[in-house]
Formats: sequence, structure tokens, C-alpha cells
Amino acid sequence: MYADVIIDISHEKVDRIFQYAIPERLEGLIGIGSCVDVPFGRGNTLRTAYVVGLSEKTDYPEERIKKIAAQREDAVPVTADAIRLAAFLKRTYGSTMIAALRTVLPAKKTVRPVEKKTVVRLLSVEKIRSLYAECGRKKQSAKERLLGELIREERIPCELVTGKLHVSAKTIQSLAEDGVIRLETRTQLRNPVRLSEESDDRPVLSDEQEEILREILRDFREHKDGGRGVSLIHGITGSGKTEVYLRLIEEVIAEGEQCIMLIPEIALTYQTLMRFYKRFGDRVSVLHSRLSEGERYDQCLRAERGEIDVIIGPRSALFVPFPKPGMVIMDEEHESSYISEQNPRYHTRETAEELCRIKGASLVLGSATPSLEAYHKAVTGEYRLFRLTRRLTGGTLPEVRIIDMRKELSSGNRSMFSEDLRKALEERIGRGEQSMLFLNRRGYVSFISCRACGEAVKCPHCEVSLVRHRGGKLMCHYCGYETADIDRCPHCGSKYISGFRAGTQQVEDEVKRIFPKAKVLRMDADTTRKKDSYEEILGAFSRGEADVLIGTQMIVKGHDFPKVTLVGIIAADLSLNESDFRTGERTFQLLTQACGRAGRGSIPGEALIQTYRPEHYSIVLSATQDYEAFYREEMACRGLCGYPPEGNMLEILITSAVEKRALGLAVALKKRCAFPVSAIGPAPAPIPKINDRYRYHLYLKCAEKDALLDTRQALEDYLFTAPVETETVSFTVL
Ligand code: ADP
Ligand code: ZN
Ligand code: ZN
Repeated sequence: MYADVIIDISHEKVDRIFQYAIPERLEGLIGIGSCVDVPFGRGNTLRTAYVVGLSEKTDYPEERIKKIAAQREDAVPVTADAIRLAAFLKRTYGSTMIAALRTVLPAKKTVRPVEKKTVVRLLSVEKIRSLYAECGRKKQSAKERLLGELIREERIPCELVTGKLHVSAKTIQSLAEDGVIRLETRTQLRNPVRLSEESDDRPVLSDEQEEILREILRDFREHKDGGRGVSLIHGITGSGKTEVYLRLIEEVIAEGEQCIMLIPEIALTYQTLMRFYKRFGDRVSVLHSRLSEGERYDQCLRAERGEIDVIIGPRSALFVPFPKPGMVIMDEEHESSYISEQNPRYHTRETAEELCRIKGASLVLGSATPSLEAYHKAVTGEYRLFRLTRRLTGGTLPEVRIIDMRKELSSGNRSMFSEDLRKALEERIGRGEQSMLFLNRRGYVSFISCRACGEAVKCPHCEVSLVRHRGGKLMCHYCGYETADIDRCPHCGSKYISGFRAGTQQVEDEVKRIFPKAKVLRMDADTTRKKDSYEEILGAFSRGEADVLIGTQMIVKGHDFPKVTLVGIIAADLSLNESDFRTGERTFQLLTQACGRAGRGSIPGEALIQTYRPEHYSIVLSATQDYEAFYREEMACRGLCGYPPEGNMLEILITSAVEKRALGLAVALKKRCAFPVSAIGPAPAPIPKINDRYRYHLYLKCAEKDALLDTRQALEDYLFTAPVETETVSFTVL
């Protein structure tokens, strides 16, 4: 017998299948997915390898075939399904097979499992309350956090206490020694305990929720042997999506199958997780980025052995090895964190779809602002589309007003706050209500836009903003179009063309200057560098320790603040000026989310959107929360240039220490692209040089996905033999 193996070395040159003979003593023991040691290379060094195929014959001369040295006992074997999924990743996103295999292997090391523990309250709620007050006086904040939760809950999973409340094992131990709590260890494997009595607060489903549940479950039950479909639930925050997920999971478990619940890392909040623990007790586990390799393996082992039915986690939870996954649910389907930052840069939705196809599972997507890709598939009938139209929490949608900053400028107000926003803030601070100020900005800015007329300077060919490069020229980083720098707006002649430059720090300074008595918190990349500072700031704000929270993207996601009655969006159009084709979509999503932050509690909320482009559809339609209209407008724009989801597009990044070589390779790659694929560029990347390496972009577009993937493969094959030195090339599916 012979085995086809993939060697565990991430290098393009060994990214192919090698054949080895299976020695007699290992025959029958080695199968597809086995992890083995093989002699490799000239020195016959032992290397780890994965078996991906078996055959009776070989095309090589018998005497030249090497033998597998040993089977690895300590490694996790790969399943045939995982190999299929890895092959999909390699084909779709372009990576070596071994990088793809590593991605679908949820844990590599074997370790002894740790026991799952639960913190159980021993004293009465009154006693806990007085201890809680005492801690507050002594400023023992970790202890206080845990006691605070114990007032509400009798039982809390230990992993939540350490992982989300940030209470150390030592603190837990000391509370246990004082007889306040006890630590309970699970004794039986199958023990679906509920966490507390009142956990059965299952609301009566609305008609809309009932209908969705019925329809998805019908498809789930009718296609037990494969062919289950994909459903998209479009519903605003608070419309009851999570409740639908919970019911779906219950039914899937009742059928003896398991569920993978994906949520963006940022949404893995204590409150959300507690809802799942309450429903499913210790049949649920959580994966998050802070778990150690060992803890990760633990969760996987538990899943494999059937000790849990539900895993909640960010994108990597998709690869948890359940025996019979029946459903994958992906909440906030549009979030950019669902795209992997490492090679292979896989898109979770597409990968989940493939996994569900392989496993015969249902896929359920949910979002308030679905990605254009998902909604397009729903509209064209590939997915089933469901809607949740009402907010069930009672709170009303905020009143949203768009403020034209061009008018402020022309009436002499050159500060970053409009007169309306300043007044609104003053009122809230005066009444002791909370406000959030959202600066719609990511990273650096080097585009040009006009504060007098709102226009950005765009590429005449690509409909994206030009980027200002050092040395005074404006460039399109899609096609390379360039033009001289300007000092007057080409549209209206104004000299205020540098757009809005301030950062969160300046917003904070300005708030403090106008309202010296206000308590202000700021959340951005600077203030959240420390581990846990993200949750600390949000925690402090939700406890009412500040009047105003200022921040970037981070503050509009995840947490719920019932006391916030005002959301101010500073320069809403900043994200519109970023130079790629998804800016309209990203702006719509962010503004919709940001507006939704106001008025979650009993007092109605208000959102003020400051902008230099009050007529832009992304801004107008986010204010009216009209997703359908937005979808139509945005699709029309994408259609103009064949951008996804109208067509398919690939970004190629070429870097080199020598600028000429980077550009030369880019040109060489472009020459190898032929009809029906069109290549655009090369052009310098928006950041043209990082760490002394020059960066060039090349974009490939094509109506048919397969033709594009074939071209990518051909380019990779060419690179395999091309005279490249230190140049690197990476591919990203857009
Ligand atoms: P989403 O996931 O869409 O934000 P949730 O499922 O979290 O919505 O629901 C929002 C709130 O409404 C939650 O507090 C939830 O408990 C409550 N809720 C959900 N469904 C119902 C229902 N049918 N009746 C009453 N309250 C509900
Ligand atoms: Zn202008
Ligand atoms: Zn262009």
C-alpha cells in the first residue's frame, strides 16, 4: 500500500503530494487523515506529514519510493471531510495545502483535558448584597464584579468568570474558602443541567419568529440526508434574532445533532454568553481568541466525544469537530472580522456554506445590515430570505437627524460640532443622561475631500477616492491613474479641501473645553492597547461612570447601553472617502449600527448625523433605516464597474525591497492574464511602502468565478518557476 502525503512545511515548493510506501507493520493502522513521520529531502530528515490519499499502485519505480517512518501518536488526525474543506480553501483563497489543513485543524496539540467548573452561590442574595457593598468601599473591584453577578445569578460557568468578568482564580479560591461560593465540577458526561430556576424565561414567539422557525426546521427535517439550505434572517437589532437561534438550537439538539454558533469576537459579551449558558447549561462551550492551545484542544475533544452540543465562538469555531453538525448559525453575518487575516484569507460565510454542503447541515445567517453578497444571493433565490420587522424590546427607534456641515461652515462655525449637536449634548449632560460620540474613521487618512461642497476627488475610471501620496500627487490605487495635487476644490473652488482631519483625541479635548464639568471616556486604538482595557472602558460607561463616550468603530458594536439617549456622529462621510469599492456599504452599516445605539432603554433616543454630504444615499438611507433602498442603489453602483457581487474580484499585493522589481513582477503577472479575466493596474498600494518594502497592487476582475480562480492558479504556477528573489505575492479574494 502507498500513501499520498502532504508535508507539514509551509513553502510553495513542497506544496504538492508526495508518495510513500506504508511498511507492513503499519498497514491497516494508517488511513486518510493519519499524521505520520516521513524521511524528507536529501538528508532524509524526519518531517511531519498528513495522509490525504491511499493507493494500491505507484507510478514511481519501486526502489525509489521511501517508507513512512512512524505514525505520530501525539497528533490530532485529520478527517476526510476536513481534507475536502482544506482543498476548498486552497482552491478558493489560494494557499498551500498545508496552510489550509492547519486552518481546518482546530487544535494541533494533544493535552490532558481540564474539567469544566461552575461557580455556585452559597449565601443568600441579601448577604451577597452586603458583601458587594463592602467590596465597593474597599475598592476590591474584581471581587465586586463577581459578587454583583452573583446577586443576579446563582450559577455562573467558571470560564465566564475568568474569561469575561476577569476575576482571577485566586479571587475565586478565596471566596470559596470564605464559604461565599463553591466550585462545582461536572461529574457525569451527559448532564444537561439548567443554570438556574428562572432560566426558563422563554418568551412566547411572535408570529414572525414562529414562521421563521417553522420554515427553517421544515427544511432541516426534510433533508436529513443532505441538501439542507441556507437562510438569511434580516432583522434590526432587538428584533428577536437571537431568540430564534436559541429555539433552532434546541430543536437541532433534540434531533441528536450539534450546532455551531458563530459570532464576531467583539460580540462575545458576558450578557450574550449568559443567555446561551442559561438555555443549554454545560452542553455549551465557548471558544475565543484568548484561549490557550491546550484549552482549545480541550473544547474540541469535548465536541468530538459528544460532551457538548453547542459551540459559540468567532470564525475559527467553524472547524470544531462535531460528530454530526446539523446547523451552523452565523450572527452579524456582514462583519469584516469574519474574513481571516492570515493565509488562507478565507471568508467565513462561503467556507461555512461549503462545510454545510459537505456535512449536510443547515446554514442560518442573521444581520441587521446584510452584506451585499448575502442579500444578493437571497434576492436571487439561492438563499431563503426571512424578515423580522419589529423591535421586541419596547424601546423605539431613535429619531435621526442629518446635519449639513457645509452650512455650518458657511455660517462661520468652523468647529467640529454643529450648533445642534452642541445643544443636544448640553441638554443630556444637564439631565444626567449619557451620550456617545462616534468618529467614523479608521486608521490613517490621505484622501482629499471638500468641506464646502462635500465632494471627494475620485478616479475617473474606478469610482473610488484618490489617495494623496508624498511628493504631491493624487493616485488611484486600483488603476494607477494619477493627477497633480490640488489646493482648490475642482468642484466648487473652495480652499477648504483637506476634509475633516481631527482624531478622537481632538474630539475629547473639544468636549472638555466646551463642557469642563463633563466626565468623558475615550475609546480608540490608543486607549485600548492594554489587554482588557476595552472591556474596562465599556464596563465603566455602562455603570454610568461617565457622561460621554467618544470612540471609533469599536463603540458602535457589541455592548448595549440603556442609558444612552444621544448618539452624535462626527463627520459621517469620512468612511465614504476611503479608497475602495465597499465604502458605501461600510458607511451604511456603521451609521445604522451607530444610530441604533440611542434609545435602547425607556427614554426615547436621538441620533445626529453630521456630514458634508447630506445627500449621499448611504447617509440618507441609514437615517431612515431603509436597507432595501440602499441595496438597490449600491447594486447599481457596483454594476457600473463590475464590482462584487455583480462580478468577482481579486487583489494581488506584490512587495519587494527594490521598487523596480515589485513593479516588474506586477507587470509580468498582468501580462499572463487573458480574457475573460481583466487586470487593472499595477498601482502603488494606499500605503506604498512599509518596512522598507515597496507595495504594488494589481486587481483582477471577471464575471465568472471559476475563470478567475483558474487564472490565480496559473499565476501561482508561474511564480513557482519565475525568477523571483525576495519579492512576495499574496492574493486576496474581495
Ligand atoms: P436580536 O438578536 O435581533 O438583537 P434578541 O433575540 O436579542 O434580538 O431579542 C431582543 C430582546 O427581546 C431580548 O431581550 C429578548 O429576550 C426579547 N425577545 C425576543 N423574542 C421575544 C418575544 N417573542 N417576546 C418578547 N420578548 C422577546
Ligand atoms: Zn468643493
Ligand atoms: Zn482608477
